[in-house]
Amino acid sequence: MVVGAGLAGLAAANALDREGIGYKVIEASNRSSGKVLSDRQNSNYVFELGPQFVNKDMTEMARLIKASNFTFLTRLSGI
Ligand SMILES: Cc1cc2nc3c(=O)[nH]c(=O)nc-3n(C[C@H](O)[C@H](O)[C@H](O)COP(=O)(O)OP(=O)(O)OC[C@H]3O[C@@H](n4cnc5c(N)ncnc54)[C@H](O)[C@@H]3O)c2cc1C
Repeated sequence: MVVGAGLAGLAAANALDREGIGYKVIEASNRSSGKVLSDRQNSNYVFELGPQFVNKDMTEMARLIKASNFTFLTRLSGI
């Protein structure tokens, strides 16, 4: 049983999945992703209300992002 569908819970579920181990994820709120939350009310911009930066030493996060076919954007200096 994985408690919480934030990054930690989803990463745990992903690891169990890769090992072929059965699991259930229980989530208290009505959505997954926990603190990860994008505000898309303005169609011209996406405002990230939670995490958005991935440091170079976050190798497991980088692996998951690449495996999910997401694209890294380079942080512009001064922003
Ligand atoms: C404004 C902000 C900006 C940030 N920016 C960055 C960044 O740029 N880069 C970075 O690496 N990190 C960043 N962080 C930190 C990052 O968001 C967290 O480290 C990460 O999202 C935590 O994930 P988590 O799964 O541990 O917890 P959470 O995202 O909090 O997920 C926990 C989940 O468990 C659920 N839950 C809790 N209790 C129960 C229960 N009893 N039963 C069932 N479900 C339950 C919750 O509803 C939630 O969905 C930022 C955080 C904030 C707030």
